[in-house]
Amino acid sequence: MHVKLRNNLLSMDDHFPLTDTPPHADWQRNLADAITKPAELLALLELDPDLPALDGSALRDFPLRVPRGFAARMRRGDARDPLFLQVWPASAEQQPTPGFTRDAVGDLAKLKPGGVIHKYHGRALVIATGACAVHCRYCFRRHFPYGEAIAARGQWRETLTQLAADDSIEEAILSGGDPLALSDDKLAALAAGLDKIPHLRRLRLHTRVPVVLPERVDSVLCSWLSQSRLQKIIVLHVNHPNEIDAAVGAALNRLRAAGATLLNQAVLLRGINDTAGTQIALSEKLFAQGVMPYYLHLLDRVEGAGHFEVDSLTAGNLMREISARLPGYLVPRLVREIAGAPAKTLLPW
Ligand SMILES: *Cc1c(COP(=O)(O)O)cnc(C)c1O
Ligand code: SF4
Repeated sequence: MHVKLRNNLLSMDDHFPLTDTPPHADWQRNLADAITKPAELLALLELDPDLPALDGSALRDFPLRVPRGFAARMRRGDARDPLFLQVWPASAEQQPTPGFTRDAVGDLAKLKPGGVIHKYHGRALVIATGACAVHCRYCFRRHFPYGEAIAARGQWRETLTQLAADDSIEEAILSGGDPLALSDDKLAALAAGLDKIPHLRRLRLHTRVPVVLPERVDSVLCSWLSQSRLQKIIVLHVNHPNEIDAAVGAALNRLRAAGATLLNQAVLLRGINDTAGTQIALSEKLFAQGVMPYYLHLLDRVEGAGHFEVDSLTAGNLMREISARLPGYLVPRLVREIAGAPAKTLLPW
């Protein structure tokens, strides 16, 4: 299939040299050119160069990583900026928090060959890659031993075999890491393989890339996506309304034009999006871009993320406030992932 895509592209380029989406070399260059040095980020944001940060091996384990376009949406001179706080390797990560562990959601026990994690009925998640365009400090995958799990190695043979062998699986969820960090050749080959599995009906992507690197959503991506016979769902990850600018809005439009239903999952983060005003603005901005709020996750209790936690009582109060002010369809479901549960656990409030 990727051969066909390439041929289409070549002939398109011959006849229509001007396209409204950037050529794919751009996103790969920008992905590689992300900010990785704490001092560089501080200088760019005009912040105090002595702002406490992780150093040495603590930072090597899960380095700073911010695409330049995402950093451009951060306020200058504001160390409390909600986008900055999501990526800044604060020294607080080194404080141990009781109950915060390395595999907080029990994924390792469920991992099968080909990177497949089948925890819930009817849908199986594929760890397509360990790479991400951005490193979110609260992420529960920060300690995940990806070396063992990455499905994109080889020709997806193991992954496709696993999914084909269980006809209760109707939905394949590409996750990671971030599946859109992979090349379109790899993704198109996987999508073509999934198309041929008769019991699959839906293809879902869990991705933050359209938000942090919107130029990734180019004509090549939209081409293989729209060609799939499967129903397409893209679950984005936006935590704060400031993450959505015009370029992100345009990328979301392209995804919808390619036939995808757009949903959002956010993580409730202390000091970042834990007020009713922020949550309401987020839901409204998402909906204005054609995205339905889906989940609001309580933080997974992963080592190094304790300083981001919002307790469930505070979260419940927040939910009451936002549901008193928004139509029901703009209120995300408040959930927590509990190892061994048959679904995300809906929290009462
Ligand atoms: C969260 C998750 C899913 C998707 O759950 P939905 O409730 O369908 O969004 C599927 N598989 C795994 C392993 C998950 O962690
Ligand atoms: S993009 Fe997603 S998987 Fe990657 S670090 Fe952020 S939250 Fe984690």
